[in-house]
Amino acid sequence: DVAKLYLGMDFGTSGARYAIIDKEGVIHSEGKRDYPLYLNGDAVDWVRSWKTTLFSLLEDIPVTLRSLVASISIDGTSATTLILDSKTGEALARPLLYNESCPDALPIVKSIAPLNHTVCSGSSTLCKLVSWWTSSDSSKESAVLMHQSDWLLWILHGKIGVSDYNNALKVGYDPELESYPPWLKSQPYSHVLPTIQAPGTIISTLKEDIRTKLGFPEDCVVCTGTTDSIAAFLAARATQPGKAVTSLGSTLAIKLLSTTRIEDARFGVYSHRLDDKWLVGGASNTGGAVLRQLFSDEQLENLSMQINPMEASSLDYYPLPAEGERFPIADPKMVPRLSPRPECDAAYLHGILESIARIEAKGYALLKDLGATEAEEVFTAGGGSKNDKWTKIRERVLGLPVSRALQTEAAYGAALLALKATEQG
Ligand code: ADP
Repeated sequence: DVAKLYLGMDFGTSGARYAIIDKEGVIHSEGKRDYPLYLNGDAVDWVRSWKTTLFSLLEDIPVTLRSLVASISIDGTSATTLILDSKTGEALARPLLYNESCPDALPIVKSIAPLNHTVCSGSSTLCKLVSWWTSSDSSKESAVLMHQSDWLLWILHGKIGVSDYNNALKVGYDPELESYPPWLKSQPYSHVLPTIQAPGTIISTLKEDIRTKLGFPEDCVVCTGTTDSIAAFLAARATQPGKAVTSLGSTLAIKLLSTTRIEDARFGVYSHRLDDKWLVGGASNTGGAVLRQLFSDEQLENLSMQINPMEASSLDYYPLPAEGERFPIADPKMVPRLSPRPECDAAYLHGILESIARIEAKGYALLKDLGATEAEEVFTAGGGSKNDKWTKIRERVLGLPVSRALQTEAAYGAALLALKATEQG
């Protein structure tokens, strides 16, 4: 049906967006909202802020398009956790944000999880759950854990306790076994864990009161979501093994679609499941933050114009904004190397851009060494993606076709999930 549209919403770190696409992926409408600041005593009332933002975005959608929306999905920040009463839907604690750490729970989690498991980080969802479980005196029998996107989706469909295996990785779900592992199932709080579906699976129809009030169609469905960074990867439509997305923002992050799952805690490398494939990735501390310490964005543009990208720079740097690197070299004491500095600023920038490209190449080589599918083509997202000279340098250094991703908004990736869900059934 040509007239059908698909709605994706992204609840990111700094605000929320929506994108409405048709089945060809053409965008029909987009919008953005900042999170309103509500206070609950001294604390930010995120429950109210996110819920308000959700309905603001729905109301921002032109009425004529709302009636054509066949399916809705939402992505949220990874490891942002809510614990609710499954009977009343009321929050039993304030939401714990993606970057909040629960050091009190870490030793407990480390004592039950396998060595170096993804949950063994103070900000993991499981640490948040254990911290709540061990410290809260609220009633626990009917508690249910939901990630930010599960919770927002639940407001729309009304079936409490449903999540996806991307969000659930950091609570300990095993997407290969398609189950929580035995060491987690045997914990006294295992009943709090949500039910897991593949991202982009239909959960239910949109609640009647919402759809009639806002003018969505009767058969509009709500689907499981994913995390914001996976949604941003999906936006680039790198759907074949060997296709990769490099994000050149403040840091350099690479994500590669692989037929094999790889994990290596030394380098912070792990894999998310995407249907029958694996999304493997790693993040270096190098990237645009170093460029910003040295040059304004305007200088970057002007100096880049003077660079001949076909010529190899003889300068060998390791640009870092501070001491320490994790991927593709694991060395918390690694010192930044940005000298010798040539007199010519364009030559200096050329040396830095080329050095970052070598780190990127080393990253893809490391993923291959760890057993991932070899990278074949790289799409680029982030502030560095608009630098065509850098793209050319990277093509030469990586020995691969490199281009700017056509779409990089996570909301667009979430809309693709909504589309996928309806295509499957
Ligand atoms: P963030 O990770 O903070 O969201 P962005 O994706 O917005 O980052 O990218 C910002 C980064 O892009 C800055 O660190 C900046 O140095 C870099 N940048 C901006 N313009 C250029 C350019 N023309 N060439 C290379 N890097 C650039």
